[in-house]
Amino acid sequence: MGIEIEFIPVGENTKNGDAIVVRYGKEGNYKIMVVDGGTKDSGRKIVEHIKKYYGTNYVDFVVNTHPDSDHASGLITVVEELEIGELWMHLPWEHSSKIRDLFKDGRITDNSLAEKIKTSLNTAYQLYERACEKEIPICEPFEGALIGEFKVLSPLEDWYVNYLLPDFPNLPERREQNVVSKALSEVYSKLLEWIEETWDKETLSENYESTGARNESSVVLYANVDDYKVLLTGDAGKQALHNSADYAESIGVDLKECSFVQMPHHGSRRNVSPSVLDRIIGERVPEGDQPTTTTYVSVSKQTEDHPKKIVVNAFIRRGAKVFETRGSTIRHHKNMPARTNWNSLTPLTFNPDVEK
Ligand SMILES: [Zn+2]
Repeated sequence: MGIEIEFIPVGENTKNGDAIVVRYGKEGNYKIMVVDGGTKDSGRKIVEHIKKYYGTNYVDFVVNTHPDSDHASGLITVVEELEIGELWMHLPWEHSSKIRDLFKDGRITDNSLAEKIKTSLNTAYQLYERACEKEIPICEPFEGALIGEFKVLSPLEDWYVNYLLPDFPNLPERREQNVVSKALSEVYSKLLEWIEETWDKETLSENYESTGARNESSVVLYANVDDYKVLLTGDAGKQALHNSADYAESIGVDLKECSFVQMPHHGSRRNVSPSVLDRIIGERVPEGDQPTTTTYVSVSKQTEDHPKKIVVNAFIRRGAKVFETRGSTIRHHKNMPARTNWNSLTPLTFNPDVEK
């Protein structure tokens, strides 16, 4: 079997998103999976890409990792314009009765809470409605689920429903504040200060504030296609990635053996730490060693903020070769048909100065 993983560009300006197309299997019997669709514009690009390079209108699996519109929006176009086998996405509005008691206001009903969730996750809800209209089977991707060859490593259903969902932004006030929600209210400050790093001196810390609950709810996907191991992370944060590594271990999978790992959340430093990377990429290697992991990161054409240099260094130090989209489609393939007129990519280099 072969596999190809393609990152379609998202964002002309500085806003990032994910749009990923995966095809795997044997010639004549390929399966196609779309993981997130970016913006409306990248959704159209996915549709064209699948028609042009795969010669089909049919997508076996569509996965929405989490409900942010920079990941869900383009999937509406994909669902409208292509034939879809299965849609995998969380349906948070269907879990309202399980979490209602966590909110302060005693007048909240299951229904009114469900409506609030739908309104706050409007894009994802539209995607759901469109899929219902087209009678596409919809399943929720929780730990242990199998989507074709891909296994869902995170989130565990109980964690999602009882800990993450109640902390999603724009929901009513909680009786007790959870730890995760603190990160949501913080103000993002522009980074001005730089600090020197070397191969042996890592400044990435365990202690940066974590990404928010909605990002932590991202579906983490793992596949082993003929001994070629792949990890897709969405915008998953440190907790979700540690959980993924724990669950992988429990089913006899060592994520360090992955040949392809997506850099989570467009290279934000709130999503990874040295201990997370030691588990999903591997421990640090001596300078000059041949890279053993390929890493892709989706960043918009003009952003200067992502991927964080401190994160790129931390990946490179662990034997990863890092490539970014930055306005172009990038393709990684193993045992798949060659494509003419596609240039080879230049990896990002180690940075002597990183964000302080
Ligand atoms: Zn994102």
